[in-house]
Amino acid sequence: MPTAPKPARHEAAESIRQSNPEVIRRMNEFTNATFRTRGGRMGSGMGLLLEGLWGYHMSAVLAPHKIDISWIAEDQYNDYACTYLDEDWNPATKAGELLCIEAKSMNLGADEPKGHFAELATNIGPEDLLLVLVWEWLPVQDSRQQVWPSVVEAFLGRALSLARLRDSLHIARGGTFVDRLACPDECVPELCQHHGEPLNARGSRERLQGPESREPKGSSIGANFGGLKRMIGVGTQEARAKRTEICASDEVAGQFVDFMQRVTRR
Ligand SMILES: [Zn+2]
Repeated sequence: MPTAPKPARHEAAESIRQSNPEVIRRMNEFTNATFRTRGGRMGSGMGLLLEGLWGYHMSAVLAPHKIDISWIAEDQYNDYACTYLDEDWNPATKAGELLCIEAKSMNLGADEPKGHFAELATNIGPEDLLLVLVWEWLPVQDSRQQVWPSVVEAFLGRALSLARLRDSLHIARGGTFVDRLACPDECVPELCQHHGEPLNARGSRERLQGPESREPKGSSIGANFGGLKRMIGVGTQEARAKRTEICASDEVAGQFVDFMQRVTRR
């Protein structure tokens, strides 16, 4: 019997997006049956556990498409790689790998999720995806005080669209990005490691990898860049107009803004 052709990157991304509602349904079925407790708390690490569960359930659902989800072991921004099911995977050379997925979770009761979407756009592949799981403790029916962690909303979309939205609004709010020809650390341009690093409107670095001379007073970084709620914030007319413009031309950006506004209103 001839084997089915291997899926292309964009086909893999589409399969993952289309499978997500089924994955969330399976996750909730599992956690409702398994993670029952009394007195569920916010800072319980449950978000990380849900992010991990997502990978296993997505892998199971994707198997008929000849792809699976692999856990990236090294310390890099992506949590998961989508890989060919029947081929070896080499994380160093990316052989056998189609795309990467960064997973974030946020508790509905939390002000701002801890995880930031802060990877530089230049390091994001065209089909890479961002996953955001929004969850809350819900009462278990007919039980005495028991609760279970339910994923109540989920977003899964093209990460590069979201990075461009984030970066444009960063600039609209008065932020900048380091140019290696004018690095605040006065690096030799060819050796500068800070190119593209975000600086906020005060000129402070927003990530640990940013220029040392721009360390803000009292902390190592600004840590606002890529906050899932903050990154779509529009405090000025200019920023609001910019966001409207981007959402009109990029469907994924528009879907993300709608998603975050819906989650914030809940
Ligand atoms: Zn530099």
